[in-house]
Amino acid sequence: MKRDYYDVLGVSRSADKDEIKKAYRKLALQFHPDKNPDNKEAEEKFKEVNEAYEVLSNDDKRRRYDQFGHAGVGSSAASSGGSGGAGYGDINDIFSAFNDMFGGGGGGRARGGGSPFGGFEDVFGGGGGGRRSRSAGIHGTDLKIRLKLTLEEIAKGVEKTLKIKKQVVCQECNGSGSKSGKTETCQTCHGSGEVRQASKTMFGQFVNIAACPTCGGEGHVVKDRCTSCYGEGIKQGEVTVKINVPAGVSDGNYLTLQGQGNAGPRGGAPGDLIVVIEEKQHEQFKRNGDDIVYDLAVGFPDLVIGTKIDVPTLEGQVKVTVPPGTQPNTMLRISGKGIGHLKGGGFGDLYVRVNVFVPKDVSGKDRDLLKELKKSTAICPNQGEHEHDHEKSIFERAKDIFT
Ligand SMILES: [Zn+2]
Ligand SMILES: [Zn+2]
Repeated sequence: MKRDYYDVLGVSRSADKDEIKKAYRKLALQFHPDKNPDNKEAEEKFKEVNEAYEVLSNDDKRRRYDQFGHAGVGSSAASSGGSGGAGYGDINDIFSAFNDMFGGGGGGRARGGGSPFGGFEDVFGGGGGGRRSRSAGIHGTDLKIRLKLTLEEIAKGVEKTLKIKKQVVCQECNGSGSKSGKTETCQTCHGSGEVRQASKTMFGQFVNIAACPTCGGEGHVVKDRCTSCYGEGIKQGEVTVKINVPAGVSDGNYLTLQGQGNAGPRGGAPGDLIVVIEEKQHEQFKRNGDDIVYDLAVGFPDLVIGTKIDVPTLEGQVKVTVPPGTQPNTMLRISGKGIGHLKGGGFGDLYVRVNVFVPKDVSGKDRDLLKELKKSTAICPNQGEHEHDHEKSIFERAKDIFT
């Protein structure tokens, strides 16, 4: 039995978008798999919260849900995002909840009925056909780009300036699509942008409403077409965008820059720019959430007696103390030298994983030293038992195995 979406988010049926968003963030962070590893119950809650949010944050879906309950949104809720691929969608969904912190500025919030998560479905559904809205003409399409970042950039956050190719407003006609800037009311739909088609069936007459085929739903047509953009009002161009990437992003996360996608034809609202993060593998560090791990091979005498060793961090070297008697695979923690938390408030840690350095071969004086060490039972506890093994022939050793 599915729970009521309003109950899931703990909001009233009259809650506005902000309340819903706030409730969602709180719950999503609380039940996030990263915070609740191997907790099935939290995982289920997390899915439920995401599903509820996906519906209630979308005007259209919410209306259908209010009217028809789960049946009104069942298939669409399951088809996008969240259930897509092994938690991928869920994490990104939360992540995009932070978009408004850095997305802003684009000025493209005019999108009719758009949620603050505009572009979410596009990333997963691969959509991108111009969305239409009667009030604002044809929308520009969303544009998706990949942004490769080093671990150093991810650790602190970074501002990137990129040149991207996209559809921009035609300068010749100021985006109107018309040389003279004139348009005239569409004769087919008389300016409404939609056409009604009545069809009679045995149950009565039905009226279908569709976008006008003549004007594409715009309600007006261009009079004398601009020759530079062929009447589209947009053309291929190149722009420079600044992208502020917060610290702590991961491979596959994306940022939505509202209104910075392709320009809309003939004055339509622009689409969004969706920046998908790719993390370059680091040569020295492995990432584990917000922590990073560095493998350090230490000579046996240093492990026994203890020492101080220089190790790299994402920002220069630090000295790490290897205490006397350190065992292989010990993790030495250097606090605060990891990745900045996406939610803010500090950094992860750097872990130095200590391994024993074992030379493949030694000779001369080194070999003599080792032989000397072997005499001590404090250093070589199992000596004696197999002391003469190396002197046995291959046949004798083979015999040992089979008897
Ligand atoms: Zn033009
Ligand atoms: Zn029309």
